[in-house]
Amino acid sequence: MVRSERYVYRFGNGVADADDSMRALLGNKGAGLVQMSRLSIPVPPGFIIGTNACHHYFKHGTLPPSLTKEIKAAMQWLGETMGREFNNAQNPLLVSVRSGSVVSMPGMMDTILNVGLSQSSIDGLVSQSGSTQLALDSYRRLIQMFSAVVLDVPKGDLDQVMTAIYANHSSGGLLSDDALREAIHQLRAVVLRSTGEEFPDNGDQQLQLAIQAVIESWSNERARFYRRLNGISDDLGTAVTVQAMVMGNAGAESGTGVGFTRNPSTGEKEIFGEFLANAQGEDIVSGARTPVSIASLKRSMPDVYEELSAIVMQLEQHYRDVQDFEFTVENRKLFLLQTRSAKRSAIAAVRTAVDMVAENLITKDEAISRVNPASISEILAPQLDFTTSYPTLLTTGIAASPGAAVGRIAFSSAEVVRMAKQPDHDPLILISHETTAEDIHGMALAAGFLTAHGGATSHAAVVARGMGKCCITGAKEIVIDKAASVLRIGDQTLHKGDWISLDGSTGRIFSGQLLLRAPDEKNEALQTLLDWTKDIATLDVRANADTPLDAVQARIAGARGIGLCRTEHMFFAPERLPHVRAMILASSTEDRQAPLEQLLPMQQHDFEALFREMSPLPVTIRLLDPPLHEFLPSLDEARADLENAAITNREVRKFKQLTERIQALTEINPMMGHRGCRLSITYPEILEMQVKAILQAAINVIREGYKTVPEIMVPLIASAEEMSWLRKRIDHVASEVFAHAGMSIPYLVGTMIELPRAAICAHTIAQYVDFASFGTNDLTQMTFGLSRDDSSVFLNHYLEHGILPSDPFVTLDREGVGNLIRIAINGLRETNPEIKIGICGEHGGDPASIHFFSTLGIDYVSCSPARIRTARLAAAQISRNDSHISEMPSLMAT
Ligand code: ADP
Ligand code: MG
Ligand code: MG
Repeated sequence: MVRSERYVYRFGNGVADADDSMRALLGNKGAGLVQMSRLSIPVPPGFIIGTNACHHYFKHGTLPPSLTKEIKAAMQWLGETMGREFNNAQNPLLVSVRSGSVVSMPGMMDTILNVGLSQSSIDGLVSQSGSTQLALDSYRRLIQMFSAVVLDVPKGDLDQVMTAIYANHSSGGLLSDDALREAIHQLRAVVLRSTGEEFPDNGDQQLQLAIQAVIESWSNERARFYRRLNGISDDLGTAVTVQAMVMGNAGAESGTGVGFTRNPSTGEKEIFGEFLANAQGEDIVSGARTPVSIASLKRSMPDVYEELSAIVMQLEQHYRDVQDFEFTVENRKLFLLQTRSAKRSAIAAVRTAVDMVAENLITKDEAISRVNPASISEILAPQLDFTTSYPTLLTTGIAASPGAAVGRIAFSSAEVVRMAKQPDHDPLILISHETTAEDIHGMALAAGFLTAHGGATSHAAVVARGMGKCCITGAKEIVIDKAASVLRIGDQTLHKGDWISLDGSTGRIFSGQLLLRAPDEKNEALQTLLDWTKDIATLDVRANADTPLDAVQARIAGARGIGLCRTEHMFFAPERLPHVRAMILASSTEDRQAPLEQLLPMQQHDFEALFREMSPLPVTIRLLDPPLHEFLPSLDEARADLENAAITNREVRKFKQLTERIQALTEINPMMGHRGCRLSITYPEILEMQVKAILQAAINVIREGYKTVPEIMVPLIASAEEMSWLRKRIDHVASEVFAHAGMSIPYLVGTMIELPRAAICAHTIAQYVDFASFGTNDLTQMTFGLSRDDSSVFLNHYLEHGILPSDPFVTLDREGVGNLIRIAINGLRETNPEIKIGICGEHGGDPASIHFFSTLGIDYVSCSPARIRTARLAAAQISRNDSHISEMPSLMAT
């Protein structure tokens, strides 16, 4: 005969039918209870119905037939253990019915307490406990909880009864026996009215309905939504814990509490939490009565406090992690009801991890694995301070770059630049439909950006993350009237110069001037943790840095070099733009020479500063990349300029020339147009100027005693022929520079791989380069045929409907783009085993993408300075290949 599967596992009073290794079966709550009873920690005895029963239920539509018998036997055991009997009017056994999966999951069924109590057993409970108050209070709680959760009676109707009773009868938050009787009477009436039936006063029936309701709640809409949102499998299922009640509502020396073994916001080592006397479970979070701190138990019940602190410290030692625990005191006797790894803020996660290494509780490796790399931005970015003000929420957009910004409204980049010229000006927030490369100067001066259009990877978002500034995009409800310098959200109107506050971590937009909490950049624990990554990481993290200031930040953050310096950002400076425009407007190579000669010393000066700052680490400089029209004004702007200028023949001629050139350079699809290496090939004099500037700068700083091996990177290569042509050109310029300087230095020439053709033909391109760096932004655009700046509307639709698992511009698409990269790397290494390979797109700062890149055996990732610490931590975690536990703070959640 086949023995039927086992579904029920007991714990408590010296019995433990299971152990911690069976977590998937027991759920987290159940596993914690079993483990605590194994450690001889006082827990009320009970049993767990495993997740296998839940699986059975969803497969067959009924609970397993053998389960009823198992539950019956376990209830029998529980009654004997407690010296009581379930469904017995004289000496009733009460239980709680609790849900619990292996993942903590709000949205599932709430716990029901006092199951087994009925009108006929109230007197029995009175003689058992000696308190009429306790018995009546427990019964009214049962009716409230059971009816709302299991019988679907509108919670509002039940709450309304209790609110009125409290208003009319309570003294000091407590109800008299008569008031409780009245409450019970009215609650039962609500149930009868709502369901057409009397409240089920039979214990067996209550238990069966409650168990079934817990299991069914696994697939209710709220729970399914939560799982989808958090990528949790629907197959896990929930366990059900049935546990003997201990009474926190038995009087002044009873109560219920929740706590943490360490402070979940700061990480400080102290027992932290709250206790509410004469209360049951949910009272403490409901806010109806104000709890006291656990520390105050030291005075009121020192013996209980001593025991509790010893137990929770034992739990922390056992699990080697911060615990979040729930307990109940019944007439000065302590019971633990739950323990689990605590959710904590990023600061607390870092601090507790580092402290626990010092306490010899965990290893450095484990400490590194315990911090979510993405949460580091929480420590390093300013946050809005809500403790001192009650802000008005205007609307919510897409949280595109974390941190917060508070400032005065400006409606264009030019306006920001103008307003920033005022001495002692307030911080400024740039608000526009979207931003483009031309806005970079205003963006550099603004504290944060808000755009009505765009998504998490639009221009504003990318620039903001690069600059480590706060940004909200896609705030669809905002209507901007640029001409009138106002914006409207619903019936609210804000003017230029008004205060606005942005929370880039949540996308919330508030009117007015909120306070800002400064970032904790010098966080010592974080510094320590990052120091430990040095010994572990197998992958270097470099910075995308365009200016010497970026380089300083990159070094402070621990970058191992610069992986991408975009030279064009140096072209947008106000004193340079005229020369750049003159160069573009020149009609012949000869005419182009003069402005290029003006630009050369400026670029050279920038490169020298970068090389000095980064010495002896590598610096990769990319040759000019964007289409030239980006440096010219728009036709409208040119017209406006002409109107403001004195109308001379010369001005008109200039205007005509400019507009002709703008028209000539206009492309229908600039992303695929005359840009990248195509510029260097058609205007070799630009390439010449840039290579000269790079190598002369390197020679100068080497003469000063610094160390550098410049890396010259060519963008948008599609074919080996392009690369071969350019390599010859670059080497030729180099030999001229060296001859002129009377010394030669080593330098590297490399390519970006950002076109699918380049990826596929990488083995042929490899013969002409010393390194290759994947520009994963463009590679993603080109592979998907998807414009990063224009796609937010349907991309968001795709994400909402699960047609794309995640935004491919945020987390690399492994299947498509990832496969191309794999093909390319194989080709590159086949031809050139020594080749250095890196990543320099936005993905270089995304932990999930970094994990993937590491499997391909690349040498480095490069990301914006603001994301370097995150990337370093992610890179160090790879060698361990396990994930963090801490999440966003959610304090006191039960
Ligand atoms: P949640 O998952 O919402 O935290 P729990 O199952 O942990 O739900 O129950 C919430 C609270 O109910 C517990 O913290 C505890 O205070 C109380 N509780 C649950 N079971 C019992 C019990 N057997 N005896 C006393 N209180 C209980
Ligand atoms: Mg590119
Ligand atoms: Mg709980």
